[in-house]
Amino acid sequence: MSLNAFITEETIEGDGDGPLADMTVAVKDNISTEGVRTTCGSAMLETYVPPYDATVVERLKGAGATIIGKANMDEFGMGGTTETSAYGATKNPVDEGHVPGGSSGGSAAAVAAGEADLALGSDTGGSVRNPAAFCGVVGIKPTYGLVSRYGLVAYANSLEQIGPIARNVEDAAALLDVISGPDPRDSTTRFDVGGEGSGAAATADDTHPATDSEYAAAADGDVDSTTIGVVTDLLDGADDRVVERFEAAIDDLRAQGAETVDVSLESVEHAVQAYYVIAMSEASSNLARFDGVRYGKSGGYEGNWNDAFASAREEGFGEEVKRRILLGTFALSAGYHDKYYKKAQDARAWVKHDFDDAFERADVLATPTMPVLPPALGESLDDPLQLYLMDANTVPVNLANLPAISVPAGEADGLPVGLQLIGPKFGEEAIIRAASAVEN
Ligand code: GLN
Repeated sequence: MSLNAFITEETIEGDGDGPLADMTVAVKDNISTEGVRTTCGSAMLETYVPPYDATVVERLKGAGATIIGKANMDEFGMGGTTETSAYGATKNPVDEGHVPGGSSGGSAAAVAAGEADLALGSDTGGSVRNPAAFCGVVGIKPTYGLVSRYGLVAYANSLEQIGPIARNVEDAAALLDVISGPDPRDSTTRFDVGGEGSGAAATADDTHPATDSEYAAAADGDVDSTTIGVVTDLLDGADDRVVERFEAAIDDLRAQGAETVDVSLESVEHAVQAYYVIAMSEASSNLARFDGVRYGKSGGYEGNWNDAFASAREEGFGEEVKRRILLGTFALSAGYHDKYYKKAQDARAWVKHDFDDAFERADVLATPTMPVLPPALGESLDDPLQLYLMDANTVPVNLANLPAISVPAGEADGLPVGLQLIGPKFGEEAIIRAASAVEN
């Protein structure tokens, strides 16, 4: 009757007291744990044991948390159902005939089932918010640069952040308090050199947005006079049952004193295409290291490097990963680069611009997290396009590097529905506040 939420069950004790001293945590299996196998859901890394901890793992230990295992996931984060895992799919604890979402499906299922108090996932295009929505728990995708990616095995590094999953908003925010902050080992978390805040302070710590933020304290449920922008473009294609729950939640926020305005983001129509070109391009480059020599299953050496690399990759990678490496390599190849990759970057800039405009009119934006209810196990795996389209509401946020939270908004046909709240850059406190009102 196991949900198959974990790939490896092994306890890593934290250091004594701390804000998470009584908490158990499931860590997604693409986050490095010193001495504990980290497979990324791939046969390629079946026996890989990292020699160091990811920064977020160090911080969990420092906060006194007990890590109870490495959570199941779609292979290298590529998927939205946990069915591309080489270790078998995870079941949704709310209804075991359905997928838990993904790619951080093991993390969300463990929390929803009470197997862990908290979990870490990673979100490249929705992989924290999607399984949080499908399992009826809370998930936060932080602003790019809020949380260190050091020790996170890269899928598409310009898009992804590690994020917390918990049964309520306050617990997820408390976990964000622990894992966020500058890290000298991840230059995208530094605010003392170049760009934002440059010259304003002597150290990265002084200017990093996490330094003065108290995320758990922001879960006070106060939405009085908050303006919530409802993104109309992302309601059109959604399942009616999802839209009904979404609208009920928005009505409820209005009753608590929030104002709502309709907002249109024209660029989101192109977001899924742009996301997949960029994600696959970055993946083709990031996954080049898995050749059986530098990392991964050995292909056996028979005198020809090409053959050895090819056989390691043939055996080690699953179908979805191969598809993406091939498409990403194609999109980046000479002669096609301008047609695909450059176009996708233009669309990405447009999405960012559209969000900037929307935040002139609203404090936070709202959409259903997922346009559909959790599919039955096996239902969507054969059709990659159907899977990609499921990401329509989550990927624009990654393209724009913004923060977003998924909070439960009731059930339809016995399956959970999630509400997504999107904030401006480093506006984590605003989305946490509004999400805690949804819980009221
Ligand atoms: N479903 C999306 C993809 O397959 C998102 C994955 C993720 O966020 N890791 O790329």
